[in-house]
Amino acid sequence: VSDYAKRIRSAQRMASENGIDAYVITPGANLEYLTGYHALPLERLTCLVLPAKSAPTLVVPRLERPAAEASPAHRLQIADWTETENPFSLVRSLLPRADVVAVDDHMWASRVMALQHAMPHIEQGLAGALLTELRIRKTDAEVHELRQAAEAIDRVHARMGEWLRAGRTEREVGKDIAEAILAEGHTSVDFVIVASGPNGASAHHELSDRVIEVGDPVVVDIGGSTATGYCSDETRTYAVGEPAAEFRTAYDVLQRAQAAATAAVRPGTTAASIDAAAREVITEAGYGELFVHRTGHGIGLETHEEPYIVDGNDRLLEPGMAFSIEPGIYVEGRHGARIEDIVVCTEHGVESLNQRPRDLMVLPA
Ligand code: ZN
Ligand code: ZN
Repeated sequence: VSDYAKRIRSAQRMASENGIDAYVITPGANLEYLTGYHALPLERLTCLVLPAKSAPTLVVPRLERPAAEASPAHRLQIADWTETENPFSLVRSLLPRADVVAVDDHMWASRVMALQHAMPHIEQGLAGALLTELRIRKTDAEVHELRQAAEAIDRVHARMGEWLRAGRTEREVGKDIAEAILAEGHTSVDFVIVASGPNGASAHHELSDRVIEVGDPVVVDIGGSTATGYCSDETRTYAVGEPAAEFRTAYDVLQRAQAAATAAVRPGTTAASIDAAAREVITEAGYGELFVHRTGHGIGLETHEEPYIVDGNDRLLEPGMAFSIEPGIYVEGRHGARIEDIVVCTEHGVESLNQRPRDLMVLPA
């Protein structure tokens, strides 16, 4: 039995247990997880119609049938529709007895409404909460995929000295990084953040035309997706020439916080306690107000998914859960720093998938 067949059966069991008669899953991570079909979100409807108690059908526009058949989804029953047909009538015909239908959380609103119009008697809910319970624990094969992605982004960080220099703009450096993300084993570039000097104080800065100066700390947070759909996400903070002493002091605190949070990961501990482990170190050093975001997020077929490593999340960690540990310290108008690894909770503790050194890397200016 393939992993996909197992996942479909698990999803069906979850539906039955929760009073849901069927799922309708549109292109995105859930479809990829259940079928292996990486479909583009086009204007023509593609969806997996998955009843709780009978076989699934992949509904595709006829033009997309060859693509669906070339994917692992070829094992499923595939029903196609032509340009003049209403695909929602086809969906309705596949769900003759459904009363409660869980739709994909990322299904376009226009489609949710078209489905409701085609099947006015059904009650719609969201599939995400159920499918998250399956996706949140990675199998060994999935951890292997995440490790491959992590090694690929490690190789990009290892080359940072080739690109990151005083006199270049963030955008120039970012363009080189994006090329390397593809060259080192990803099939898409998901994001490139090069936040130099004062731009580092904004946790969501991307790229600008600011020219990097001697002594600048530079936050480099980058990620991509591999051919199997699994994502990488890794931050290192560099200094281009020797940075200010106050920056080094803050960086040392940050490094201790990131290590403390990583060391705290083990099965049975809460997600919130991992956040607390990082926050305690930073707060004790007097920088608590400057750590303005959660400590991490889950990762898999999406860069951000459950479990979120955040205060208030009492979910217990279990083997196979993969997430980032990425505390940061941000000083408005001056500089910022963040260190981020993807880690996996194991039977007895933690494995860091990213392996680059975490000491401040001072590059020649
Ligand atoms: Zn990141
Ligand atoms: Zn991240």
